[in-house]
Amino acid sequence: MQQCYFCQNNIEEIDFKDSAMLLRFMSEMYKIKSRKKTGLCARHQKRLATAVKRARYMALIPYTNL
Ligand SMILES: [Zn+2]
Repeated sequence: MQQCYFCQNNIEEIDFKDSAMLLRFMSEMYKIKSRKKTGLCARHQKRLATAVKRARYMALIPYTNL
């Protein structure tokens, strides 16, 4: 996975309500994977972080289990 998933699919805004999609970019510990692993561009990696934050706030995905 080298090319940015969102750029590839022409997704500008990441839908934070799509928790299944967000989880694809998160580890089993519910941490956002590093850019190296997600293959996202800097712009979308940042948007992903924002979307995850919102999804957590809306209790759509769990908070990081430390
Ligand atoms: Zn991108």
